[in-house]
Amino acid sequence: MRLSLTNAILLGIALAIALGLLANFASTEGPDPDHPGQMKTLYPLWAALLIPLSELMGQVFLQGIKMLVAPLILTAIVAGIATIPTRFGIARLGIKTLIYYLVTTTLAVILGLVCVNMIRPGEGKTVDSIREELGAAFDIASARLVAIETEGKIPEGAGDLIRNLINQCLTNPFEALAEPNVLGIITFSILMGLLLPHIGPRGKPLIELFQAGFDLMIRIVHVFLWLVPFGAFGLLYVLLAEVGLRLFVPLGAYCATVIVGIGLHGLITLPLILILVGRFNPWRFFKGYREALAVAFTTTSSSATLPVSMKCAEKNLGVPNHTASFVLPLGSTVNMDGTALYEAVAVMFFAQLYGMEMTLYQQVLIAITATVAAIGAAGIPSAGLVTMFIVCAAVGVDPAAIALIIPVDHMLDMFRTATNVAGDGVGAVVIARTDGEDLEANVRKQAESPSSS
Ligand code: ASP
Repeated sequence: MRLSLTNAILLGIALAIALGLLANFASTEGPDPDHPGQMKTLYPLWAALLIPLSELMGQVFLQGIKMLVAPLILTAIVAGIATIPTRFGIARLGIKTLIYYLVTTTLAVILGLVCVNMIRPGEGKTVDSIREELGAAFDIASARLVAIETEGKIPEGAGDLIRNLINQCLTNPFEALAEPNVLGIITFSILMGLLLPHIGPRGKPLIELFQAGFDLMIRIVHVFLWLVPFGAFGLLYVLLAEVGLRLFVPLGAYCATVIVGIGLHGLITLPLILILVGRFNPWRFFKGYREALAVAFTTTSSSATLPVSMKCAEKNLGVPNHTASFVLPLGSTVNMDGTALYEAVAVMFFAQLYGMEMTLYQQVLIAITATVAAIGAAGIPSAGLVTMFIVCAAVGVDPAAIALIIPVDHMLDMFRTATNVAGDGVGAVVIARTDGEDLEANVRKQAESPSSS
């Protein structure tokens, strides 16, 4: 029997959860032979041997997929924008995309606020009670928070975020490609794509070069997809073996609030948008986009997931190249429904722990700053933690409480990144559908075209 890619990914995730939790359960604390006087976690032999192997699989997968991000965005956007049919126009596409991003992010934040007001995860608890329950994990988290603060990357307010965004957009394109700085690559690629058709016949071979380059990138993604089951296993196993579920006990209600909010957004709001605005079957969407969701869940990076999201949107769902290559790269760094929802829930949770009652006006302020903070967050792991400082500052909540949620941040990042990526994919489908695209016909055309064989 031949194992399909989807089943292989599911198998990788299931094995990682089972073995990772078992390893964590079987681990004990013992003296560290390399550092006398210090303690370390000791694993049974099988679990200890699996850790370096899993780390290697995770690293190969992550680095491999990151390798594709810059060339894929460059070729996709230039080829997509240069060949955009005039009746659609870039301005129309841009306006539709921004409206979609803003509406869905606002809906997500409101949903988060409703959940946190109903569940009230901070009620009956204090910062000190959680700190005690977390034990050593809190000290490690505090050290990480201090490191974040001293790195000097924390935005001081919305103005700072906007300045950062402008600096990222308008930068040396070679530097942007090398970093990679997704917004910098997007800006330069859009300019090239817009102006290439206007330099006469000499521009045509260049457009064809970018189109061929993009087809090649998608081909490479196809090959890399077979790394996903191993990468997913590696990343999840190490995380669960080291962290386990122990830390979820003191923060259970908070984690549950974030996951319920994200779940409702991903399983109700987004599918409703697909049905009502896009007239598109949500089941069909999740089926076509499942590889991207699995990669987002395991890498916790929207930007690293981009090669797979582009492949899924175009090849599996039939979104035309000019739509996918604009909506998805921009969305991977700007449109973050899960991050916005999580930032709003976290700051309300801190306020509840501090015993501060947030008025309606303050909650509106949280909604606005959480939306701006999510726009300013990069599509990389834990970026939302850094921009959360501005949401705290907006309503006078002490950001020291951020240290409390750092121990569970990675796990929650898996859920919010998957939601962020789903939001981008739904956007690409809905925008294509409102342009009158017949996505099923596009999928059939793709399958028949020689480049897809
Ligand atoms: N990891 C998230 C992403 O890449 C951003 C965040 O919320 O930290 O979409």
